Amino acid sequence: MIKFADSESSFDDANFVIYGYPFEGTACFRKGTALAPDKVREESYNFETYLLELGIDLCDLSIHDQGNLLIKDNQIENETLLEDSVRKIINKDGKKFPIGIGGEHSMTPPIVRAIKEKHSDLSVVIIDAHLDFRKEYEGNSRSHATTTYQLVEMLGKDNVYPIGIRSASKEEIQRAEQIGFDFGRDIDSINGPVYLSLDMDAIDPAYAPAVGTPEPFGLKPLEVIKIIDSLSSKIVGFDCVETCPPLDNGNTSSLAARIIRHVIGTNV
Ligand code: MN
Ligand code: MN
Repeated sequence: MIKFADSESSFDDANFVIYGYPFEGTACFRKGTALAPDKVREESYNFETYLLELGIDLCDLSIHDQGNLLIKDNQIENETLLEDSVRKIINKDGKKFPIGIGGEHSMTPPIVRAIKEKHSDLSVVIIDAHLDFRKEYEGNSRSHATTTYQLVEMLGKDNVYPIGIRSASKEEIQRAEQIGFDFGRDIDSINGPVYLSLDMDAIDPAYAPAVGTPEPFGLKPLEVIKIIDSLSSKIVGFDCVETCPPLDNGNTSSLAARIIRHVIGTNV
């Protein structure tokens, strides 16, 4: 098994625990995100252990890579496994920061379900091109097109903060308006703990072309880094989803790996 670079720590000693969720069962357009966890790990070896922008060396941190969850065809079983796995990470000793590599965006609600048990005042920030506010997609209420809707149902509309949105159906906008969900709110007003989910298609396809559903007019990678920095000490967990290796010359997976490394460095 390939491990994320510099994840030399045991589970017990670790402050950061990485896991892969190679599930793409509800992906609607381009397939291949299930290959991302290992591809992102592979690309993570390109980088210096020292994060110049933060003055932090990942060699000095305790990082563990659990490998990939054993995914089957049944999405509900997979999500139960994922939720239990995250629960084990965060409850082990109260100091572990979970980092999920997707896989598709349907993984975020089960993770948040586990984390909100520990942080009742949890907010979720979702960096994404898409509003993901369908009630169901192709008959599936757990589709990756329903992620933000599921999170609003779970946490309430005032605790979910999408960033980077530039694609939604008319029906999704109407649903948001009906329940008074403002998806353009400023994240500076968040005080409590934050779970951060990065859908790689938030980043402009010029920088991150290898995603399942690319959407032009996106964020620059450094803008994502600034968002992460503005939240840094509040973040209690992170996932990076929707990278699609079959479409990748390596650069999108490399970017995902580097962002994950930055998130680790900001949460020391
Ligand atoms: Mn998404
Ligand atoms: Mn998206």
